[in-house]
Amino acid sequence: MANRLAVGVDLGGTNIRIALGNDEGQILEKLMERTEKTKGPEGVANQIIKMIRLLQAKDPQAKNIVGIGIGSAGPLDLKRGGLMKPTNIPYDFVPLVEPLQDALGIPTYLLNDCSTAVMGEKHFGAGKEHENLAYITLSTGIGGGIYVDGHLLIGKDGNATEIGHFTIDYDGLLLCGCGKRGHWEAYCSGNGIPNFVRLLIEDKNPEEVETSLLLKMVERDLSKVTAKKVYEAAKAGDPLSTRIIEEIGVLNAVGFACVIDAYDPSLITVGGAITLNNGDLVIDPIKRHVKEHARNRVPEIIVTPLGGDVVIYGALALAFHPNEWKQM
Ligand SMILES: [Zn+2]
Repeated sequence: MANRLAVGVDLGGTNIRIALGNDEGQILEKLMERTEKTKGPEGVANQIIKMIRLLQAKDPQAKNIVGIGIGSAGPLDLKRGGLMKPTNIPYDFVPLVEPLQDALGIPTYLLNDCSTAVMGEKHFGAGKEHENLAYITLSTGIGGGIYVDGHLLIGKDGNATEIGHFTIDYDGLLLCGCGKRGHWEAYCSGNGIPNFVRLLIEDKNPEEVETSLLLKMVERDLSKVTAKKVYEAAKAGDPLSTRIIEEIGVLNAVGFACVIDAYDPSLITVGGAITLNNGDLVIDPIKRHVKEHARNRVPEIIVTPLGGDVVIYGALALAFHPNEWKQM
């Protein structure tokens, strides 16, 4: 029997990536474009429709797809099938499901990108044997997707696993992008790490700071600190940056411990640019410190084998298995 085919869409604030794939997790075609942000609320949907038609022109098999799955950065309004006040797109509501179904006549499903990613892990990645599975992304933001007892967790608005907004600092020294203080994402995400580094440096020996490779790399201008530079300096052996990434790891371990105690997964896979670019430098400190905070048995923690395509795989899994989450 021929494999079933679907289209998976990874909708981000910067790029839209779409792929044609089969139910065994083979990706046959891929396309990427910059996300259209200025052509009205329906601009994004129109762009995805155009990209899918392009895919269908390239590969005639793409005319016989069973569904379209979309994994998107939130916040989502799953009941209305679109994005609600997205951070990077200047409209109150961006409809996706209805315009795609109307234009293409193909069942279309939308889910938060991290929930989509964990579906990819469960069906096509390291999570096949796991009924209790968590995926965590450490990227521009921090997010999670989680199965408990084989059920994908969704929540009343589709935001059941907004783990990046766990409070890990009661004193709330840093402000999160969501407007609240002390959230995990405010310290350990790509957006948060520069602020956390500046905070940490205040308590460090001024001479060590002055002579560090990190300070040289940012030309002594702390406003130029990025997550990438801190990890690069640590890779080059800078003692200050090595200590800083350990302290980032300690806070990540607190966040991971909360995930372990709340959801009791038997496997955690980790993705996102910070993880994929730095591997063990990110994962090892978490493994070292997580036992200090987790009450539950600590599961295996690994980098996702699906790499930067984890949301695409998940969007395909969503198209093939739409019943795994309750349609709102
Ligand atoms: Zn927050």
